[in-house]
Amino acid sequence: VVLVAGSANLDFAVRAPHVPAAGETVLGHGFATFPGGKGANQAVACARAGGARTRMLLALGEDAFAAPVEASLREAGVTCEIVRVRDAATGTAFVCVSDDGENAITVTPGANARLHPAHLPALDGVRCLLLQLETPLPTVVAWARAARVAGVTVILNAAPAQALPAELLTAVDVLVVNEGELATVAGHRGGIAADLAAIDVAEVIVTLGARGCCARLDGGLHVQPGFRVDAVDTTAAGDTFCGTLAAAIARGLPVAEALRRACAASALACTRHGAQASVPAADEVDALLAG
Ligand code: ADP
Repeated sequence: VVLVAGSANLDFAVRAPHVPAAGETVLGHGFATFPGGKGANQAVACARAGGARTRMLLALGEDAFAAPVEASLREAGVTCEIVRVRDAATGTAFVCVSDDGENAITVTPGANARLHPAHLPALDGVRCLLLQLETPLPTVVAWARAARVAGVTVILNAAPAQALPAELLTAVDVLVVNEGELATVAGHRGGIAADLAAIDVAEVIVTLGARGCCARLDGGLHVQPGFRVDAVDTTAAGDTFCGTLAAAIARGLPVAEALRRACAASALACTRHGAQASVPAADEVDALLAG
């Protein structure tokens, strides 16, 4: 079992000729809502990867935005453990994308900000706990430490990036970051190799966009080249990577093999529009890996 504990949002997206300036109103088009949030995206990716059961701890408001968020998780096969928050709205993101590809995004954490250390369920049967940083940092620290004590493998996707306290890093087994996040977490040591070496976590993985990923593992540095695809939308590529990686680690695959699957799945996610809708099924990943 993989337990994902983290954020879930309903995203409101609209296209416009240009992103409105302060005080300006523009006529948009193509309005749509879709489920998002790094935690929920990663849970969907983990469930679609197969091989491990996926549970998710999330917080939702008592409003109309909660139902589509929950439905998308359940449809992917995620078992939801929901904290219902009376006096906060379900998390939202308001996204405006201009026709020339600029964007402006406002995220309101809402119920996600109410997740507390005590909300972590019993960890019986849980192999891996997958965390991100869209929930309050003290909560993330407490969950990681509880899982570490229970012998559960802790995977942290340090996004959005911030400097991390040592008490969190010492409770993490696998850290996943993109290039910018790596520099922030490591304290800008001047290059990927130096940053990787500076972080006190057993295994550190940095995703490198189309170039794939690089990892500092037990046996030294490991490079997994990216898969060549026609990328149309990289939304949720990193989330697909993390969810797929957690599923692979939970079913006991060696990390190098897990990285290959994660790179393949996230490359496929780039070939489709959307967040959770772009996550590929396990057989599509198998087909890409088989070449
Ligand atoms: P994030 O989206 O979190 O910034 P990256 O851009 O590093 O993270 O992308 C995460 C993963 O998605 C990469 O490790 C890679 O496997 C895959 N990926 C991203 N962009 C592409 C691309 N253009 N072609 C193929 N794979 C990609």
